[in-house]
Amino acid sequence: MAGLFDLSGKVALVTGANTGIGQGIALALAAAGADIAAAGRSPADDTVRRVRELGRRGENFAANLASVGAVQPLIDAVLGAYGRIDILVNNAGIIRRADAVDFTEEDWDAVMDTNLKTLFFLCQGVGRHMIARGNGKIINIASMLTFQGGIRVPSYTASKSGVGGLTKLLANEWAAKGVQVNAIAPGYIATNNTAALQSDEARNRQIMERIPAGRWGDPADIGGAAVFLASAASDYVQGHILAVDGGWLAR
Ligand code: NAP
Repeated sequence: MAGLFDLSGKVALVTGANTGIGQGIALALAAAGADIAAAGRSPADDTVRRVRELGRRGENFAANLASVGAVQPLIDAVLGAYGRIDILVNNAGIIRRADAVDFTEEDWDAVMDTNLKTLFFLCQGVGRHMIARGNGKIINIASMLTFQGGIRVPSYTASKSGVGGLTKLLANEWAAKGVQVNAIAPGYIATNNTAALQSDEARNRQIMERIPAGRWGDPADIGGAAVFLASAASDYVQGHILAVDGGWLAR
């Protein structure tokens, strides 16, 4: 059974792997046997060190994913170093909060560019490589706001709703070519991204009251779902958005 989830010999490119959910996913993939290419604008030194402690190869790749110009140089650098990419985890993302009536074009563009535009072109670039080899696993990080509207985060909701749609479109186009595209929709996970919510006493209480599991998620809670979607265990799972949310959506 363990073989179904074994990632030995696989290379995983994980964006935003220095902290939060990206770090949780990178460490889980490495624990399952994968070598990790950690891409981001901040060096993922702690992640790389812990990947190496697990006996896997880990390297940093500097990439500011706010602009699509970073995509091809990143892919070329990872292929140059590792020779292949078996797993792509599109995790890097940002959020901007303001009432819809006050929301600025800058806050719209910044979030859409990082969360949706760069994500698509990373899928495209790595997808070409995977299609040529006839296999590969892409995992996009979606959100509860792939399913719900949220409040005061219009560009974030638009971007994450877009991630859900793109995940299904790419699965439709690439499933028959051996490339699986799925998404994970994390619930409320304690990271930098949600620091403002955690420190807002009223919002924190409202959120906690609605989570059937009775706690915020931890980045490590996302790791098992990522290993599943990266491994042979999920070979017939296509275009799925897997909620890992402590039951939030069931409420
Ligand atoms: P986080 O701790 O803020 O991590 C975000 C990651 O994205 C960081 O590594 C960050 O790098 C990286 N990043 C942001 N902009 C970048 C850029 N221009 N170029 C390269 N890397 C960039 O937040 P998180 O909660 O772990 O978020 C990870 C993903 O999960 C995001 O897509 C987020 O939308 C999604 N998500 C989070 C939650 C949650 O409850 N936390 C729920 C649903 C979905 P720096 O460290 O350099 O900023």
